[in-house]
Amino acid sequence: MLLRLLIAAIIVCLAIILINRLRRGKKAENRQPIPYEETVACKKCSLRLPKADAIERGGDYYCCQEHAVDID
Ligand SMILES: [Zn+2]
Repeated sequence: MLLRLLIAAIIVCLAIILINRLRRGKKAENRQPIPYEETVACKKCSLRLPKADAIERGGDYYCCQEHAVDID
């Protein structure tokens, strides 16, 4: 009886260890770095675009040259 209980406990422990390992493995896969790019909204049309591609004028950002020129 005691032996059965011991075997059951060992099986449960192994199962927990296995589940934890699988979870950790999945987390590691998901940990791939997501390239983060800061985005800004065009002041005229509210289009969101990467800050690097936006045109900055007077502290505001615009999606294209036309929108940057239109505002005085
Ligand atoms: Zn725009």
